[in-house]
Amino acid sequence: MHPTPARKLHSPALAVALCAALLTACEKSTQLEDIREAGELRVITRNTPTTFYQDRNGDTGLEYELAKRFAESLNLDLQMQSADTLESLYQQLGSNNGPDLAAAGLTVNAQRQDQVRFASPYLQVTPQVVYRRGDKKPRSIEDLYGQRLMVLKGSTLADELRALQAVHPELTFTESDSFEVVDLLRLVNDNEIDAAVVYSNELVVNRAFYPAVSVAFDLGAEQPMAWALQQRPDSTLLDAVNAFFAEIKADGTLDQLIERFYGHSDVLDYVGARAFAEHMQSRLPRYETFLRQAGDQYALDWRLLAAMAYQESLWDETARSATGVRGLMMLTLPTAKFVGVTNRVDPQQSIMGGARYLVWVRDQISADIPEPDRTWFALAAYNVGLGHLEDARKLTEKAGRDPNRWIDVKDFLPLLQKKQWYTQTRYGYARGSEPVHYVQNIRRYHDILQWVTQPQSESRQQSTEQYLAPGILEQLPEGI
Ligand code: GLU
Repeated sequence: MHPTPARKLHSPALAVALCAALLTACEKSTQLEDIREAGELRVITRNTPTTFYQDRNGDTGLEYELAKRFAESLNLDLQMQSADTLESLYQQLGSNNGPDLAAAGLTVNAQRQDQVRFASPYLQVTPQVVYRRGDKKPRSIEDLYGQRLMVLKGSTLADELRALQAVHPELTFTESDSFEVVDLLRLVNDNEIDAAVVYSNELVVNRAFYPAVSVAFDLGAEQPMAWALQQRPDSTLLDAVNAFFAEIKADGTLDQLIERFYGHSDVLDYVGARAFAEHMQSRLPRYETFLRQAGDQYALDWRLLAAMAYQESLWDETARSATGVRGLMMLTLPTAKFVGVTNRVDPQQSIMGGARYLVWVRDQISADIPEPDRTWFALAAYNVGLGHLEDARKLTEKAGRDPNRWIDVKDFLPLLQKKQWYTQTRYGYARGSEPVHYVQNIRRYHDILQWVTQPQSESRQQSTEQYLAPGILEQLPEGI
C-alpha cells in the first residue's frame, strides 16, 4: 500500500520534522530576499533641504534621488518616511519591523557605529562654525566661550561639542530638536543666537536665504556621510547598497546628483539691474513677437510673460539647469508634455507652453482671490507648487491673516522652511523664500518693462529696441 501524503502528515513525528525544516528554511532567507519578497524598500529620512522635500515637480532631495535610484536598481517600490528628530530616526531604524535603512544626511561617527552599520560614504562634509557677518568673527573655540551657540540635538556635532567641553569647560552650547539645521542658520542670520555648528553642505544649500551667515572657522577635518543600516549579521542589504554606490560613483551619476543639489549658485543674487537693462536691449527684441502672440492668445500682459522668462532664464533660449529644466521658460519635461511642448529650446514653443501653464495654474487657484493677487499666487505656485502654496495659505488663515492676499501669504511662505511650521502642514518642507523672491523679482522686472514701454503708444507696435533710446537705462526708477 502506498502511504498518501495526507497520512504522512498525520504522523506527529513527521509534522514536527516538517515544521523544523520549514523554520530552518525561513531563517535562511536573507534580509535582501525578504525585501525583494515584500517588493518595497522602506527608507527613513529627514524632511530637510539637504535630504528630502517637495518642490514643484514633486519629491526631491539628494537622499530621495539616491534612494529612488537604489530601489529602481533592485526593481523595488520606494517608500520614504520622515522622522521628526535624529533620536526618533535611530529609534525607528533599530525597532522590530523598522525601516530597511536610513538615508538622512547622516555622518559617520564612532558612537553610532555601535548601534548601526554604515554603508560606504558618498559625500565628505566639513563641520563649520558659522556666525553673523558684521559681528566679531570668532577664530577659535576660546572665542566661543560665553556665546549663544546652538547645534542640532542628537547630531554628531553635538557629540563633538560635548567632547570638546572636556578640554574647554567654559564652552557652552544648546541642543535643540525643535529646530532643524535651516532654523539654526536663520537664528544666526537674525541675530537670535551668536553662532551655530553645521555641516558645509547645509550651508551651501541655504546660503542664498541667509545672506548674513558666514563661516567663522572649520571645526576639524572632513567627515564622511553615509546611509545607515540596522545592526545584524546578515550583510546582503549592506552589500547591495555598497555595490550600488560603487556603480554610481563609477558611472558619474553620483557626481551629477551632488552637482545638482550643491553646485548651484543663486541666480537671484546674480541678476542685477544693469544686466537686466542690457539684456532688454540685446536679448528681449528676439522674443518680443512670440511674447506678444502668447499674451494675445492667453489674455496675459506680454510684459508679464517677458518678466517671467527673464526670471527663469535671463532670456536665454538655450538655458538649462542641473535639475533638468530647460529653455526660455525653464519647463520641466513633465510640464512641457502637459502643455504640448515638443521642443523646449524652441523659444516660441517655450513661451506658449509657459503661458499656457501659468493660465492653468491660475485656474487652479480660488476665483475668490481678486487680481492682481491671483496672478502673484499663480506665479508663486508656478515656482513652488500648488500644494505648498495651499499650506502657506492655511498657515496664514490660522494666524488670523487673509489667505486671499499676497501681502499676507508672502509672510507665511518662508515659514515652510522652519520645522516648527512645516511639520504642521500637509506637504512639508519647502524652500518657501524662493517663491517670494521669484514673485518679487518678476514684479520688479514687470514694472521696469511697463515703465519702459509706457511712453510709447502700444498701437505704434514698436519693438523694445526702439523704446530704449540712448540714456534710458540711466533713467530707470530708483531701486530697480
Ligand atoms: N549629519 C548630522 C548627523 O548625522 C545631522 C545633521 C547635522 O547635524 O547637521 O548627526
